[in-house]
Amino acid sequence: MGKKHSLAALGGSVLLLGILLTVMLHHLLENPFYDQLGAYTMEEEGFRAMAFGEGNLEAMAALAEENGVSVGEVCCAFMTEAEYDLTGEKPERITFHRWDSLKKSMTERKPVEFAKLAKVYEAILSDAVCFPIPAGDSGGSGNYGYGDSWGAERTYGGERRHEGTDLMDGGNGRGFFPVVSVSDGVVEHVGWLELGGWRIGIRAPGGTYFYYAHLDSYDHEFAVGEEIRAGELLGFMGDSGYSKVPGTVGNFAVHLHFGIYLRTDHYEELAVDPYWILRFLEDKKVKYAY
Ligand SMILES: [Zn+2]
Repeated sequence: MGKKHSLAALGGSVLLLGILLTVMLHHLLENPFYDQLGAYTMEEEGFRAMAFGEGNLEAMAALAEENGVSVGEVCCAFMTEAEYDLTGEKPERITFHRWDSLKKSMTERKPVEFAKLAKVYEAILSDAVCFPIPAGDSGGSGNYGYGDSWGAERTYGGERRHEGTDLMDGGNGRGFFPVVSVSDGVVEHVGWLELGGWRIGIRAPGGTYFYYAHLDSYDHEFAVGEEIRAGELLGFMGDSGYSKVPGTVGNFAVHLHFGIYLRTDHYEELAVDPYWILRFLEDKKVKYAY
């Protein structure tokens, strides 16, 4: 009797141990990107940095185009797998086969999260269609430059972080460079802002908000609610701002501060880094004589 009981107990223990090991092994085998997708929020710093890297966004857009699939889903798969940082990736490794298997495993485990994130990338990339400075023959040097200054410190108006990209004028002076809308949309804010100077903010059809600051002048007196087409002239690059007094110029070098904001579950306006998106748009300039 006693022997039978202990055998049954042993069998039970072995079974329990087996179940436990299976669960643990299953957990260990899971790729971390499932956790990444599960923990996904747009407020996450890595997501906001939008680190597409050299040529990868171009490769993802081409892949989507050639295969008739959503660029948002392509970005979502590769960005999530790389924990939102593709700067170490090579464009030639952005292949359909790789994307297809990433998407399959991600949508199998986290369909809701995958769809949500893909929609966000899709919106930004369908909203932004051209570079904010047009191509044109000009009397000046036509030089401008910009770098990735996301998160750099700014001191005017208290300590804060840079939430945009500065396109710096290369010695042409205020009022030289035309600034055009990167998207279709509707004017949501216009006029003087202490930090932004003469600024204009446009809400694109996909929900992305594009912000242009420190203008020298506007093309015309814009009204809130006015409809804007991508490539339409907004005004000219300048150095207005950093003052409560409207029209103040000269407090810093001439440049366009360009910002991209998303509407999320928790924020009305959440800034993301425009740098790599601008790099992507650079060969999508509209023509404008200046
Ligand atoms: Zn700036």
